[in-house]
Amino acid sequence: MHRSEFLYPPGGPLPDRPTAGLPRPRPHQHFAGSIRVPYIAPWTGENARQPTITTRLGRVGYGISYADEYGIADRMRGALWVRMPVKPGAGGPLLGRIHALRQRQAMYHMLCQGCGQSTVGGRSDQRHLFLMASTTGQPIAEGDKTITPPSCAGCAVEAALEGPSLGRRYVAVLVEHVLAWGVAGIVYAPDTLVPVPRNNGNEFALVAYDDPRLPWTLAYREVVSLHGCTAIDLKDLTAQTAA
Ligand SMILES: [Zn+2]
Repeated sequence: MHRSEFLYPPGGPLPDRPTAGLPRPRPHQHFAGSIRVPYIAPWTGENARQPTITTRLGRVGYGISYADEYGIADRMRGALWVRMPVKPGAGGPLLGRIHALRQRQAMYHMLCQGCGQSTVGGRSDQRHLFLMASTTGQPIAEGDKTITPPSCAGCAVEAALEGPSLGRRYVAVLVEHVLAWGVAGIVYAPDTLVPVPRNNGNEFALVAYDDPRLPWTLAYREVVSLHGCTAIDLKDLTAQTAA
C-alpha cells in the first residue's frame, strides 16, 4: 500500500477499492445549464423516509439496527448508516448540504468532493489536497479530524475563486496520510432509543471507531484524521495549477 493511500483500521472489513490511478470518469454535474453541483451535494430526488430504529445483538453487544437491515448497504465498520437513495441529478441540487453516502464514498475512495474524480495519484508527491471552509482561518494541525473529503487541484482553485459562504474563508492543506477515525452521527440512548440531545449546538456527535457509543450511533458522515500536514496558500495553488 502506498504511504498516502487511505488506511483502514485493523480488523475492519476488506474494502472494495478500485485500483489506484484508474480513471473514474465522473463529469462535474450541472443544474439549469450553468450551476456546478458538487459531487457530495444531495438532490431533492434523493430523499427517503427513514426506517424505524430498533435494537439487535451484534458481534460487540447490543446496538441500534433496522428491522430489515441489509448488512453490506446499511453497516460499515460496525456503524449503522442513514439510508439515502443514490440518484444524483434527480430533481434539484441542495447546494451547501451533504449526501451522507457520497460523502462516505468520497472519503473511502479519496474522491474529489467537487467532481468525484479519484485524488489518488493526482499529484506527483502522492499527497492529497484538502480544502476546508473555516470561520477562524486557523491552519489544519497534525491529527485534525474532518468530514470534508479531498479536492482535486482544479476544483480547489475553482472553489477558491468563487470564495466560501459569508463569514468564512478557505484553508488548504496537503496531507500525506489519511486515517479512518470514526463517524459523525446521532447517538441513541440504549434504554429509550431516543436520540441523545447535543449540548454544543453541533448537528452530529463525533464518535470514534473504538468508542463504546459506536453501536448506538446512526452515522451520517465518515470522519478521517489528517497526518503529515503542510498548509498551502491558495494563491500558490492557483499559480501552480495555472503553470
Ligand atoms: Zn475535482
